[in-house]
Order: sequence, then C-alpha cells, then structure tokens
Amino acid sequence: MAHKTDIEIARKASKLPIQQIGQKLGIAWEHLLPFGHDKAKISEAFVASLADRPDGKLILVTAINPTPAGEGKTTTTVGLGDGLNAIGKKAAICIREASLGPCFGMKGGAAGGGYAQVIPMEEMNLHFTGDFHAVTSAHNLLSAMIDNHIYWGNALEIDQRRVVWRRVMDMNDRALRDVVTSLGGVTNGFPSQSGFDITVASEVMAILCLSTDLADLNARLGDIIVAYRRDKTPVYCRDIKADGAMTVLLQQAMQPNLVQTLENNPAFVHGGPFANIAHGCNSIVATKTALKLADYVVTEAGFGADLGAEKFMNIKCRKANLAPAVVVVVATIRAMKMNGGVAKADLGQENVAAVQAGCANLGRHIENVKSFGVPVIVAINHFATDTQAEANAVKDYVTTQGTEAIMCRHWAQGSAGITDLAIRVAAIADADMANFAPLYPDDMPLFEKIQTIARRIYRADDVLADKKIRDQLRAWEDAGYGHLPVCMAKTPYSFSTDPNLRGAPTGHSVPVREVRLSAGAGFIVAICGEIMTMPGLPRVPSAETITLNGAGQIDGLF
Ligand code: ADP
Ligand code: MG
Repeated sequence: MAHKTDIEIARKASKLPIQQIGQKLGIAWEHLLPFGHDKAKISEAFVASLADRPDGKLILVTAINPTPAGEGKTTTTVGLGDGLNAIGKKAAICIREASLGPCFGMKGGAAGGGYAQVIPMEEMNLHFTGDFHAVTSAHNLLSAMIDNHIYWGNALEIDQRRVVWRRVMDMNDRALRDVVTSLGGVTNGFPSQSGFDITVASEVMAILCLSTDLADLNARLGDIIVAYRRDKTPVYCRDIKADGAMTVLLQQAMQPNLVQTLENNPAFVHGGPFANIAHGCNSIVATKTALKLADYVVTEAGFGADLGAEKFMNIKCRKANLAPAVVVVVATIRAMKMNGGVAKADLGQENVAAVQAGCANLGRHIENVKSFGVPVIVAINHFATDTQAEANAVKDYVTTQGTEAIMCRHWAQGSAGITDLAIRVAAIADADMANFAPLYPDDMPLFEKIQTIARRIYRADDVLADKKIRDQLRAWEDAGYGHLPVCMAKTPYSFSTDPNLRGAPTGHSVPVREVRLSAGAGFIVAICGEIMTMPGLPRVPSAETITLNGAGQIDGLF
C-alpha cells in the first residue's frame, strides 16, 4: 500500500482559523497579529503581561544519535502534543522554524511527518512569517555598516584582516563560502576577504532565540564582537552603532508564531539556530509564553541527546531559568539496528541481535539525561518494518535501565497512536520527580567545562587542545567571559568525534580544533571537527522536482 506523502496529508487537513487556536490558550483576538488565516504572531504586550502567571510542565523530546534511518524527533514532539490533548490535557508544542535553503537541497522538512505534523507545512518550510528574512537583514545591515565604517575613515581602527563578522543568506550556496568583497575600484571600498554562512548559523539567530525581551535583544546585539584592532582589542556591534537599527528590524520577528497541528492543537514555531555552532532549540520567548498558557509544553532539541539535550539543559535552561519535568528519548528499531552495525539497505530484515547491540547507544543517552536529575522515558517511533521481537528487545533492554519504552504509532495514526506515552508522560510530569541541575556551575573554568561535557556526556578519556586554545580560553576568562556556558560543535552521529563510531564508544579523546566567542549570544563555541556553516546542494537537488501544479498547490516539497 502506497502511503500518502507528508504534503498530501497536510493538504487534506481541516484547519481552524488561527483565532480559534488562540482561544484554546486564552489569547484574545486583539493579541493575535494574523498572517493570513492560519498563522499569527502573539503580541509583545501580551507576552509581557504573562510574567506573573505560573508555569506549566516542560517536556523535552530528544533522541539517540541520528542515523540515516531517521528518528522522528519533530514527528514525536507534534504527536505527543496531540496525544496529551487527546487525553484531555491542555498542551502546546514548541518547535523551531525551518530554514528555507535546505528545503531545496535534500528532502526533509521541519514540520513533523505523517499524521503528526504542524500546518501550514508549505509556508512553515518556506517564507513563513518572515522571521528568517528579518534575521538575514539585521545580520547584513551590520556587515554593511562595518565596511562603511572602514570606508569613511575607520575611526575605530579596525584591523581589516581581523573582521570576524561575515554575511548570511538563507540558501545553500557553496559558491559564497569564501568571497572577496569590494572589488571594482575606489568607490567600492577596500577589497577584503569575507564569506557567507546560512542564516540559521548567524549569531543574530542565536541571540533572537536566547533573548527574553526587546531590551535584552538590543543589549545582546550590542555585545556582538565584529572585529579586532591591531592590538587585538575587540570592536563591538555597539561601537559600530548598528544594534538599535538591528533591533528595529527584529522587532516583529521577536514575537512568537502560533500555528496548529493536524489535530488543531496549538503549536509555537519560533526561531531556529544551528545545532552545532549554536544551541539548536526554539526561542526562549516562545517556550516561556507557551509555559504560561498551557499546562504541558512539549519541545524539541536538535540532533541526539549528547548534543541537543546537553545544550538545551546547559545553555537554554540555564539562561532562561527553565527546568524540564521529564525527557522523552526517541528511538527507532531501524536506528537501533544501524547502531548495532546493520547497513541501511538491510534495515527491512528482522535482526534482534543487532537491535540488542544498538541498545548500548540508547542506554548511554538514558544515563546521561538522568544525570541532569530529570526522569526519562523512551518513545519507540514505530516504522512499518518493525517486528514484535525487535520491539520486545528494546523494551526489555530499557527496563534493565530502570525506565520504560513505549511503542508509538503517531506517524501512522496521529494522537490515537500515542496515548499510552501521553498518559505516562503526564503522570511523570505531575509527580514532580525532577530535580534538575545543569552539568557544571557558571564559575567553572572554561576548559574544565569542555572536559566535563566530554567526560560525563561523551565518555571520552580526555580533551586534546593546543596551548593556543587553552591560552585563548584563559584570555576570555580574564576579559570577563569565564562564566559563559560552552556550546559544543561536533558530529551528531557519534558520542565521539568520529562519525563512524556508532553505539557507545569508550577510550576516545575529544580534540578541540578551535574556540570561538559568541559574546552576544553568550556562549563559547568549542569546535571539534569540520563544521559546515554554509551547506551546498546535492547532485540532484530537490528543487528540480518542486513545482506548482495546475491547482496552485506545491508539489514535490516532502
Ligand atoms: P527529526 O526531527 O528527528 O529530524 P522528523 O520528525 O523531522 O525527524 O522526521 C524525519 C522524516 O522521517 C520525516 O519526513 C517523517 O515523515 C519521517 N518519519 C518520522 N517518523 C516516521 C515513521 N514512524 N514512519 C515513517 N516515516 C517517519
Ligand atoms: Mg526535527
């Protein structure tokens, strides 16, 4: 039986006007700023008015290390939100916005899948409410103002070789990774080397997602380091006087977006920072707003729990003073098999032994999440090829880890397929079992923070870093940045820095190649491996088959 594609399912959805979705959360129509009939921003004034209300329970969805088999974190986040509503709970979900560029490269949207999707998925994956365009504009305004400052005499004495602020666009365009600007003569400025990153990699995106309000946004934008002088002292965005105008460009984008799931439940879709050089979670403003309006808020962190959940806890929760009540780790039988050594082509065949071997990966993630003081439950995202024996192998293994695994069929059935998980998650959240604490204190030296993550989460023996890197970290401590958390940028495919080491590797070490200071976002980035901040398109980009059909509908987008 050929199943329907995500876009075919989404097209058949019966949407409610966005005002009715707002009503479910008690948002009066005048506080909803509609974008068409099915999307709205929630007014800044209303968001601010919620400050004194109590918070609902925060539920984090994370996963085992991703494999090419696909795990379904977003699908499970959406499904669990619908499942909680189906059992009578007032629940909302919080997910990230999609980056437009990658939609035209490889398949894979950001709105979930099957019968667990956020709609309108076409718009969400494309221009949506324009937030990413605003981030792009704000970022590039600063780029233009830096060059303009140099052009008109460079009063700040910026060392042109040390301008660290690049440009961004929301398109996979490898031709722009490294460029020379200002060619063409005297009136065009001084030629220099620059380059483009994709918009989601902009520090402005991370700042938008970590700011609590417009004043905080403005202050953080001002804190961005854009360049250095010959004496290596930093030049800040506020020295360029761009922070005010950037805040103006981002004013609308700071307001969280409200849409709905296929089952007409509220979904906050806001912000989308990269999960490697940034923290990979939706905005603090959206999460906090949702917590004020719903009793249960289901949110998602990018990649596997070693990166996504770690950053969610150590960066987002620390900065926003949030504490998850329960964490759901998504696993699939297929990914367990891949972690157990099976090739992608052979995933369709039953292989209980490989599932059992792959469970080591799941087990380590369970242990890691528990070390934050938060209860864990496993959601097995059901695929059509899964067998009962394989499912039992995962369930039995998870029981030996002191928790439980629940089979979930939300992709095929919507909320009806995930009520078992919803009931358990609500019970655990209601029992207030969590005793959350980040992994390291603010005042730990920066290098020790990296070591703590490497040893406690990746289970590495040690961190390898040149004297130059350690000296740089100490220099930042002396400059007053020692209290910042560390944002790890490493491969998502393994606990180690080798993407081919699946399962639960030990005996490895974590080489730190480079460290960067995101002074506006407020974290130190530790780069452990090749990190691509401007993706390219594949040999056959999906753009080749994306078209408008005769009825004005989009075909070929997922
Ligand atoms: P993640 O958030 O972990 O990256 P998604 O939830 O976005 O993953 O899912 C990735 C893709 O896998 C989507 O296209 C989705 O439709 C598909 N998918 C998810 N769950 C299932 C499932 N149970 N069966 C088949 N396809 C699935
Ligand atoms: Mg996702």
